[in-house]
Amino acid sequence: MAPHKDIDYDITIVGGGLVGLAAALSLAGENCLVHLLEAGEPEKIMANRHPSFDDRTLVINPASRLFWQQLDLWKDLLPHCTAVNRVHVSQKGRFGSVRFDRERLQVDYLAHVIEAKVLGRCLWLQVMRHPHITLSAPAELTEFSSGDQDVLIQYKSPSKPNSHRSKLLLAADGARSAVRQKLGLKTITKNYHRTAIVANVMTELPHRHCAYERLTNTGPMALLPFHDRLGLIWSLPEAQAQQLLKLGDSEFTQGLQEAIGYRLGRISRIGKRSAYPLYRICVPQQFKQRVLLLGNAAHTVSPVSAQGLNLGVRGIQRLTAVIKKALKTQQDIGNDGVLSEYQRQSQPDQQAILQYTDDLMTWFKIDQPLVNGLRALGLLAVDSSVGLQRQFYRLAGGLAEMTS
Ligand SMILES: Cc1cc2nc3c(=O)[nH]c(=O)nc-3n(C[C@H](O)[C@H](O)[C@H](O)COP(=O)(O)OP(=O)(O)OC[C@H]3O[C@@H](n4cnc5c(N)ncnc54)[C@H](O)[C@@H]3O)c2cc1C
Repeated sequence: MAPHKDIDYDITIVGGGLVGLAAALSLAGENCLVHLLEAGEPEKIMANRHPSFDDRTLVINPASRLFWQQLDLWKDLLPHCTAVNRVHVSQKGRFGSVRFDRERLQVDYLAHVIEAKVLGRCLWLQVMRHPHITLSAPAELTEFSSGDQDVLIQYKSPSKPNSHRSKLLLAADGARSAVRQKLGLKTITKNYHRTAIVANVMTELPHRHCAYERLTNTGPMALLPFHDRLGLIWSLPEAQAQQLLKLGDSEFTQGLQEAIGYRLGRISRIGKRSAYPLYRICVPQQFKQRVLLLGNAAHTVSPVSAQGLNLGVRGIQRLTAVIKKALKTQQDIGNDGVLSEYQRQSQPDQQAILQYTDDLMTWFKIDQPLVNGLRALGLLAVDSSVGLQRQFYRLAGGLAEMTS
């Protein structure tokens, strides 16, 4: 589609993290002319030295896998993925557990695990090659102002300041979104006062494609099967996490072993440890004057739930469908009607995931006999009911949204 006279691009995306890159590919697939601005240096991105593309392992749920298939990227990603065939949920030191099994649920797999850096590099290369995408990096958005017909976007790149006009500006500039702040959109932040320690772990026994979610009274912990190792995400009170981070490998391993138990035998090796503060961001109104928030800029959830990117991907799918329809009926893709349709469709999904991840972070903190008993019964109920397991699989797998 040729942009309107005097308009340089249909859509400008600020932020070339996983969400900005995926949104660029999806929208360019509908023939939109896209300009993507990323502040990071391409050399750092390709060398895995950019914070959006680090060593963290990401769970790709079944709904996201379909999205990557539609973009024709799955064949490139699959060789780097490890399939999850089983998930074991248990409570440390308490009765009750749930085992999700692909055979019991009659599905081919429950999820896949990939490293953020591999996914990021693959998306970056696709974006560079796409004929409808102009990629500017390093390029930092400095100003924008919305008019009746378009948004004027100003950015600085190493050579000189630049500007152009677009119908729509998408802010995929992360949890601390400067665009969101500039628009003055109400932002509700909940600090969990917890830190996630992330590391690769090798154990005596193989993972056999099983992921572990362990609910402890300091917070949830996840171990994701990845190649010959497991990706650990361990949420802890801030002070405790800081103490653990200072320990040497053997002392740290001792503490971790105590927390995860011996289901996988002894921990034989621990990789580099990274720390992420845990908080939740909810933005009730996500657009204003031709500017729409996407990904972490619109909703940030605790990584222990493995939902942030998956939720972002569903947002991109909805936005692409809404824009496709608007183009077909020759509507202005930046107008409030189009953007409010996107928000209306996205709200129930976002609220469900924000609630689910918040429950995971807070519910298991409560340590009272009655609550503990109910929790054990709840886990046993889910364990014994294939129907309840299917419902849970559909929510966590992003599939509940696809048929609603
Ligand atoms: C440890 C961990 C594990 C996780 N595991 C999972 C998982 O298993 N499954 C899952 O679905 N999700 C998971 N997530 C969440 C997922 O990683 C995020 O939801 C996702 O990466 C967010 O991407 P984003 O593009 O919205 O934001 P970001 O990655 O923050 O990207 C924002 C980008 O915007 C750029 N930028 C910012 N300001 C400007 C500007 N002014 N001009 C130009 N560029 C700018 C930045 O350089 C950056 O590249 C995990 C997160 C963590 C921390």
